Amino acid sequence: VCGIRPAYNRDGKTYSTCGLTCAAEYQSGGSRVPNGRDPTPDVINILCVICNDRLCFRRGPDIFLTCGMACLKSLCSGGGDRLKCSYCHRKPKLTSSDHCGPTCRSRSRVACLMCRCRPKLGKYHFCGRACKKLAMETAPKILEVPQNHDTWDMVATKFKKAWKPTMGEPVPQIKHVYKIVESSVFLKPYDTYKKKVGNERFCYHGMPRDCQLGNTGRTTLCSSRSCPLCNILKTSFNTNLGSPEGGFGAAIYTSSAANKFYNYSQPGGAILLNKVALGRVYNASNFREVTSLPAGYNSVVFDRDNGRLNETIVYHNDAIRPVFLLVF
Ligand SMILES: [Zn+2]
Ligand SMILES: [Zn+2]
Ligand SMILES: [Zn+2]
Ligand SMILES: [Zn+2]
Ligand SMILES: [Zn+2]
Repeated sequence: VCGIRPAYNRDGKTYSTCGLTCAAEYQSGGSRVPNGRDPTPDVINILCVICNDRLCFRRGPDIFLTCGMACLKSLCSGGGDRLKCSYCHRKPKLTSSDHCGPTCRSRSRVACLMCRCRPKLGKYHFCGRACKKLAMETAPKILEVPQNHDTWDMVATKFKKAWKPTMGEPVPQIKHVYKIVESSVFLKPYDTYKKKVGNERFCYHGMPRDCQLGNTGRTTLCSSRSCPLCNILKTSFNTNLGSPEGGFGAAIYTSSAANKFYNYSQPGGAILLNKVALGRVYNASNFREVTSLPAGYNSVVFDRDNGRLNETIVYHNDAIRPVFLLVF
């Protein structure tokens, strides 16, 4: 492939490339091994789990399960042998399990949300650049967080803690959690704004849906111009959508209390868990105490009913981004 190094030779077998780097050229999909022979067991372990034909892509000590972007894309959209473990894709599934054993099951708890077969990088949701690129290519979109994933637990725990019902209503059962992948044009302006004002919090916002987005198997945004959910995912939040008649003027309304917007979203709606950069907070104690952002502040908070009906309001489009979608 490279035309520089001689073809790799091992145990008397000659391969068509000099080594794994050339053999597994990421974008091109690499070359085939071993030509016309039955692969040995250790070759099988480095063969792409999708095409079973080319060597897996490698970067340093990092071995991927696929040969290149095309096969990775297929893996991410549910490709691969359904009888094999959904994490390692090599060993057979145990009866009534998605995995080959406890090791893969526990690794899947911290897996990349895109390929689901490699560890996610720390606080990020993806395993690396390839999966991030794939995810961003088709943004805006939602990626399901599996119920046995650490991120599901984190979101569900946050939701339970933020559930402060005024009449003792029980915490509703979350059916699906999705990570929201927004268009890249929305990422930078938020980060810049957050750096400027600081004080990032997680707040809820609920809305109805014109569609079934987020229900089992429904992950494609609808094209309705009036669908409140899909429109936020496409254009992010917009203060223009807030009514000037709102309790604090034309703004973006959220709440630190999960119950507040849950009521607005039902029946059939959804909740967004958002990151909000509050900066310097103006604490209000009555509706319409202010109807625009007071000078010297970045947000307005009204801790109505001891926070059980908390109102957290920002007046800047770049002060908020949706992070997770919750469906009940
Ligand atoms: Zn080469
Ligand atoms: Zn492949
Ligand atoms: Zn496995
Ligand atoms: Zn990945
Ligand atoms: Zn929709």
